Amino acid sequence: MDKIEQLKKIIETSNDIVFFGGAGVSTESNIPDFRSASGLFNQNKYKYSAEEVLSSTFFNLHKTEFYDFYIKEMLHPNAKPNKAHIALTKLEQIGKLKAIITQNIDGLHQEANSHQVIELHGSVKRNYCIFCNHFYTEDELVQYKGICPKCHHYIKPDVVLYGEMLNQKNIEKALNYISHCDTLIVGGTSLSVYPAASFIQFFKGKNLVLINQEQTPYDKYATLVIHDKIGEILSKVTS
Ligand code: NAD
Repeated sequence: MDKIEQLKKIIETSNDIVFFGGAGVSTESNIPDFRSASGLFNQNKYKYSAEEVLSSTFFNLHKTEFYDFYIKEMLHPNAKPNKAHIALTKLEQIGKLKAIITQNIDGLHQEANSHQVIELHGSVKRNYCIFCNHFYTEDELVQYKGICPKCHHYIKPDVVLYGEMLNQKNIEKALNYISHCDTLIVGGTSLSVYPAASFIQFFKGKNLVLINQEQTPYDKYATLVIHDKIGEILSKVTS
């Protein structure tokens, strides 16, 4: 049986699927990931590395450079959901998929109309003034260049920067879904950002499926490993 048929069979015989994903889910929407050859970490366009800029220390010390990088590199207001997001929405609508746990901050799962989405690293769609707590949209953050027009303090994107803690409620929800599902599909993630990557160790179900263009440290634990484009694969198994 080829891998597409195997994945179809797994989905057919599962009732409680959870999807855990990362930046590779959105590369087919033209949002670069971090660690692929063409990813953000391998581009040397800036004085500071992407990892350095996207840290809480850097945000506290160099706000102008932070917003310059963040607005140019992390915001993709014209990106649209791709075949992977759409296939996952289909699986949710037919009752197979119980939750999407994502490390992504682009909001594309919600734009594709998925409902049970846990955003472990936050979202570029939400931004708050660090002083008056006023909410700003992505467009407003760009328009005001990160400065709150009401009180002139900084607006902080609701994303988890390197060095910051993940939201405890989100962790609990994610671990609850992962530890109770019968099938965990992991896709488009290098599984190298912690603690998120360690969450899959809580899986106790039957089928661990890994879909990634490159090898991951967890390939050896999977029931099925597919090294291919996730949008292509998921659209084939849900059509
Ligand atoms: P990563 O960059 O470390 O790894 C992405 C993985 O996806 C790579 O192994 C790559 O081979 C694979 N990949 C790329 N395109 C693919 C495709 N079409 N099909 C299948 N696999 C594909 O990303 P990560 O593991 O998510 O961790 C990095 C951090 O980057 C996350 O915390 C996330 O918040 C952040 N990030 C998010 C976005 C986004 O929201 N779209 C974009 C860049 C980075």
